[in-house]
Amino acid sequence: MNDKKIHLNNQQAVWHPCTQMKHHEAFPPVLVTRGEGVWLYDVDGRRYLDAISSWWVNLFGHCNPRINAAIIDQLGKLEHAMLAGLAHEPVITLSERLAAITPGDLSHCFYASDGSSANEIALKMSFHYWQQSGFPEKTQFLCLQNGYHGETLGALSVTDIPLFRQTYAPLLRPAHPMPTPDWRFAETGMTPEMHALKAVAELESYLAQHHASTAALILESLVQGASGMGMYHPIYLRRAREICDKYQVHLITDEIAVGFGRTGTLFACEQAEITPDFMSLAKGLSGGYLPLSVVITNDTIYRAFYCNETSRAFLHSHSHSGNALACRAALAALDIIEQDNVIATNCKKADFFNQCLQPIQKHALVKDFRNCGMIWAFEVENSKPDFARWFTQRGLTQQLLIRPLGNSVYIMPPYVINEEEMEWVAQGILHILDEM
Ligand SMILES: *Cc1c(COP(=O)(O)O)cnc(C)c1O
Repeated sequence: MNDKKIHLNNQQAVWHPCTQMKHHEAFPPVLVTRGEGVWLYDVDGRRYLDAISSWWVNLFGHCNPRINAAIIDQLGKLEHAMLAGLAHEPVITLSERLAAITPGDLSHCFYASDGSSANEIALKMSFHYWQQSGFPEKTQFLCLQNGYHGETLGALSVTDIPLFRQTYAPLLRPAHPMPTPDWRFAETGMTPEMHALKAVAELESYLAQHHASTAALILESLVQGASGMGMYHPIYLRRAREICDKYQVHLITDEIAVGFGRTGTLFACEQAEITPDFMSLAKGLSGGYLPLSVVITNDTIYRAFYCNETSRAFLHSHSHSGNALACRAALAALDIIEQDNVIATNCKKADFFNQCLQPIQKHALVKDFRNCGMIWAFEVENSKPDFARWFTQRGLTQQLLIRPLGNSVYIMPPYVINEEEMEWVAQGILHILDEM
């Protein structure tokens, strides 16, 4: 009954995320047995270059020896202890280090296990802060058109991706999507900066009217990931910060996908020289190893909850908040960022990769080629009804793990990718484009 082969071929017991399971009748999921660096190996020993960092989480390669060693060391000491009433060294050290490296006065860390939960924490904290600070009518949230903040009901309420949202709309609390600064939508003749300024003007006129009922604006810093790696000019963040200050509205920057160097700076909002009121981090926080997320906020917010009454505390919890193994993985990832001078090294790698990708940038089917730090994306002009799935399958034949979002193909490799591997990615993608 437990014949291993039968067991592994029958994958119906696993209901995969973001997948029409019937599609797996034609192409079963790749059965991965091990990983090393940018490579994933399947049961037959065939390898695939993970060009999307396993859904944007993996920063330093699979089975990174330094992160492995940190987790193994921690495993021999303490795997997990609840975080209410208890603390441990990994969570304290991580919180102090995050406070030190994040912008401005961000200094208090609240933990969860996934990005969606982190965003829900930020939304709840913002709302609760205003309740306790004499602004009980501030109950509404603003988000951006095409923004993505996760798929649990609260996070989905501030997500504006119809594919994920439409079916569940009756379950969601209405939020207010503001025009996106994503320059793909700029009118002809407008620069990305002009387009961002136009979007920000609409934000300002909305808030001039509705600030009294608005608790917070939540947005993804610089790159709107799930909408196809839509990129925008940092002036938007800069001006949004000023407007939020002017109208007493919190700014929540979701750096779940872009934190820890992805956009070329340690945090994306550094490029606009701003400090948000809340920043959510997840994905690469643990090097992509273990589920860990955090919301970091400032002392003003923290103090509004700090008093003798239990009911005024932030009474929110997750069973695995501040998991010790995950925190150790995160500390090891931060060590690598510092010791390997990752921000500067990535900059050189990005230059090289841009050269490799030139034939793609010039390809007849390619439009809106864009790059921000270690993210590359472009649109492919085509009329294939199921382009993303088709491209993903063709990618596998080129030994590439790549998963377009609609017609947007993006590359978001682990930072450990080397020159030969970058050439491999570029050649594989070019081959698929030439096939079309
Ligand atoms: C992935 C992502 C989330 C959700 O994180 P999960 O861990 O999948 O819940 C939220 N915001 C952004 C910008 C993301 O990329």
